[in-house]
Amino acid sequence: MIANVVVDVSARETDRPFSYTVPEPLRPLVRPGVRVGVPFGPRLLHGFVVSVAETCDTPADKLRPLKTVLDIKPPITPELLELSAWMSRKYVCTLHTALSAVLPGALKTKTETVYRLAAESPDSGGQWPGEIRDIAAYVERKGSAKEEELMKAFGDRMQLLARAVELGVLIEERQVRDLARKKTALFVTPAQPAERLREGASEIGAKAPKQADILLRLSDCADPVPLADLLRDTGASAAAVRSLESKGFVRVAETEVARDPYGNRRFEKSNALPLTATQAKALEPIRAAVSATRHEAFLLHGVTGSGKTEVYLQAMQACLDAGREAILLVPEIALTPQTVDAFKGRFGDDVAVMHSRLSQGERYDEWRKMAEKKVRIAIGARSAVFAPFTNIGLIIIDEEHESSYKQEESPKYHARDVALERGKRHGAAVVLGSATPSLETYMAAHRGRYTLLEMQERVAGRPLPKVRVVDMRSELKDGNRAMFSRPLKEALEARLAKGEQSVLLLNRRGYATFVLCRSCGYTAQCPHCDITLTYHRTSRHSRCHYCGYAERETSVCPGCGSEHIRQFGAGTQRVEEELAKLFPGIRTIRMDVDTTAAKGAHEKLLSQFRNRQGDVLLGTQMVAKGLDFPYVTLVGVISADTVLRIPDFRAAERTFQLLTQVAGRAGRHTLPGEVIVQTYTPDHYSIVHASQHDYRSFARRELTIRRELGYPPYRRLALATLSHEDVSKLVRASEGFASEIRSRFRLTAWDGEPPELLGPVPSPIPKLKDRYRFQCMVKYRGESAAIDALREAADAFRDEMRKSKLSIQLDVDPQMLM
Ligand code: ADP
Ligand code: ZN
Ligand code: ZN
Repeated sequence: MIANVVVDVSARETDRPFSYTVPEPLRPLVRPGVRVGVPFGPRLLHGFVVSVAETCDTPADKLRPLKTVLDIKPPITPELLELSAWMSRKYVCTLHTALSAVLPGALKTKTETVYRLAAESPDSGGQWPGEIRDIAAYVERKGSAKEEELMKAFGDRMQLLARAVELGVLIEERQVRDLARKKTALFVTPAQPAERLREGASEIGAKAPKQADILLRLSDCADPVPLADLLRDTGASAAAVRSLESKGFVRVAETEVARDPYGNRRFEKSNALPLTATQAKALEPIRAAVSATRHEAFLLHGVTGSGKTEVYLQAMQACLDAGREAILLVPEIALTPQTVDAFKGRFGDDVAVMHSRLSQGERYDEWRKMAEKKVRIAIGARSAVFAPFTNIGLIIIDEEHESSYKQEESPKYHARDVALERGKRHGAAVVLGSATPSLETYMAAHRGRYTLLEMQERVAGRPLPKVRVVDMRSELKDGNRAMFSRPLKEALEARLAKGEQSVLLLNRRGYATFVLCRSCGYTAQCPHCDITLTYHRTSRHSRCHYCGYAERETSVCPGCGSEHIRQFGAGTQRVEEELAKLFPGIRTIRMDVDTTAAKGAHEKLLSQFRNRQGDVLLGTQMVAKGLDFPYVTLVGVISADTVLRIPDFRAAERTFQLLTQVAGRAGRHTLPGEVIVQTYTPDHYSIVHASQHDYRSFARRELTIRRELGYPPYRRLALATLSHEDVSKLVRASEGFASEIRSRFRLTAWDGEPPELLGPVPSPIPKLKDRYRFQCMVKYRGESAAIDALREAADAFRDEMRKSKLSIQLDVDPQMLM
C-alpha cells in the first residue's frame, strides 16, 4: 500500500504529493484526509494523505515508510480534499497551504487524544479478541487513558486502538491541551414525584413564596434544571434552593456540561413569520432549487429592512426539511449578534456557531458537532465555508459585498467563490444577500449567471429613512468650524429631548488622525512603514496601525523646532469629547478597535445600547453592519469623505455601501428615521445616489467607469507584490519579474485582447515593516493562462527568493490594492 502525502513544506518545489509505503499495522488507518508523520530528508514532518494506491511508479524499496498516523477519523472529507486542490490552483498557493485552511484551527494546535470506555458496549458472549479485552480492562481500571500511555502499555500499536474504537469498545476524545478541563455546573433535580412537589408548594406557599415557585417550576419538568436558570426564572436566591434541599424536595448536584459558548445565553424561541408577498416571491425559487437538489446561485438584493433574515430562515428550514445541511456566513460574528440570535432562536441546538472570539477548545467542540452530524447548521465568518458537512443543501452569504469575506493571507481565497464551488459539488443553492451587492455579483446576476431576487421595499411599508447631505464647505463659509454641522447638532438635540437614540459613524479611530506642523508641514511617519502615524489621546502616543510602532507626543516639531505642531482630523475619541462638550450629560457608547479589544466587548456594548443605557452609539464601520435597534431614529455620518479618499478603484463602491448600510440602521421599526451625512464633496455620485437609496443609478454610473478603465467586473485582476529590505535589489527584481511576465504573455496565443501588465510601480504602501514594496498588476479576461504566466514568473524567481529574502506574493481577484 502506497500513501501519497502532501508535506508541510511551504515551498513551491515540494508542492506535490510524495509517496510513502504504509507499514502493515497502519494500513487500516491510512485513508485520504488523515494527517500523518513522514520522514522528509533528515526531518520528520506532518503531512496530509491525499490519496492511497496499491502501487506507484517508483519501486517500493525506493520509498520510505510513513511513520505515524495522527487521526483515527480523517478530519478532512474527500470533498474538502478536492476543494483544497481547486483552491491551490485558483489562488496560486501550495496544496499544503490550502489544506491547512480547511483544517479546523484547533487541530493545528497541540491536542491530545484520550480514550475512555464506551458506555454501552458489553462484550456479549466474549466476542472481543483477547487484546481488545485487555485494552478495555486497562482503560476501565484507569477511568480514561491518554493515547501516549496506551501506546506505551500496548507496544506502539495504533491499529489496536483504532480497532477498539471501531468495535465500539473505546471512545476517542480529542482534547485541546489549553482547555482540557471540563466545565461543570450545578443542576437541580426533583427528589419527589411532581404530585408531592405541588402539595409542598401549597403548604409552604404563604411563608416562602419563592420556594413555592421553585417547586411549581420543577413539578413540570422531567430533566434536571441548571441552578442558574432556576434562579433567574423564579427570582429566588440560592438559599431558597438549599432550604428545599434540606427539606428533601430537591437534590443539587454538580454535573459536567459541554462547553457551549451560547450555553449561558437564552434565545427567544421564534416561529416562522407569515411572509410578505415580496418575501414569499423571493423564497420560492430558493426552495425549489433546494428541494430539487440543484445547484443554483441567487442574488437576494433587498433594501435594508426588507426582511432578508426571515427569507434566510425559511430557506434554511426548507433545507432541513429536505434532510440536508446548511451554512450561513456573516461578515463578522461579533458584529452580527442579532443575526446569530435569530438563527439560534429558530433552530436552537441544531446550530454550531464558529465564533472568532471562542477559545481553540470551544471552537473545536463546535467543529466536532458538525463533523459528527450533531448539528445541521453552521454559522460563522469566512472560514465557516469549510464546515465539514457532507450533504449541503444551502449556503447563504449575508452582506455578500463585505470585504472580510476575502482572506488577506495565503490562501487568499474569497468565501463567496469557495461557497459557489462547494455549492456545485453538493448540488446546493447558494444565496448571496445584500442591500448593496458588489458590482461583480450584480453583474453576474444581470448576465443571468445568478438568479436575481429583488426586495425593494421595507417590511410593513416602512419608509426608507430620509437622507440629508450637509455641505461642510458652506458650514465653514458660515463660520462653523466645529465637527458637527448645525443640522446634525439640532437633530441630536431633538433626539436627546425625545429620549430616542442616535448612531454616529466616523470612519477613523484614535483621537486625531495625524500630527502636523503648520510651520514646515512635517507629519509624523512610521520609520518602518510608509504610513502616517495616528495620534491616540489617552496614551499620548502616535501609533502606526500597520506594525504597532509608537512614539511619544512632542511639543516642538522634530523637523523645524516650531511649536506650531498639532493634532489634526477627528478620531472617535475626539468626537466623544466634543459630544460631551456640546451636550453635557450625554451618554455615549464608543465602539472602535480600542474599546472592543476584550473578549465579548462588542456584545456588551451593543446590549448596553439596546437596553437604552446610551443615547449615542459612536463608532467606526462596526456600527454600520446589520444592527437593528427600534429606538434609533437618527444616523449621522461625520465625514463621508474618508473612504472616498482611499487610493483604490473600489473607493466609490465602498462609500456607497457604507452610507447605505449605516443609513439602513435608522427607522427600522415604527419610529421613522432620519440620516444626516456630512461631506466636503456633496456632489460625488456615490454620495448623491446613496442619499436617494438608488443602487441602480449608482451601479450604472460606476459600471461605466469600470468599463472605461478596464476594472472588475469587466476585467479581472491579479496583483503581485514584491518586497525586499533593499530598495535597489527590489527595483531590479521587480523589473526582471515584469519582463518574465511580458515575455510569457507574448508567447501565448490569446483569443481576444491579451492581458495587460501594469507596473512595476511602488505599492500604495511603499514600505511596510522595514521592507520596500513594489507591485505589478495584471488585468485579464478570465483566462487561466494569465494566472499561469504569473505563477511561472514567480517560479523563475524561486532561487532568488530563497537566497536573498525577496518575497513575491500573488493575489488573485484582490480586494485591496495596498
Ligand atoms: P434586512 O436584513 O433585510 O435588513 P431584517 O431581516 O432585519 O431586514 O428585517 C427587518 C425587520 O422586519 C425586522 O425587525 C424583522 O423582524 C421584520 N420582519 C421581517 N419579515 C417580517 C414579516 N414577514 N412580518 C413581520 N415582520 C417582519
Ligand atoms: Zn509601522
Ligand atoms: Zn516643523
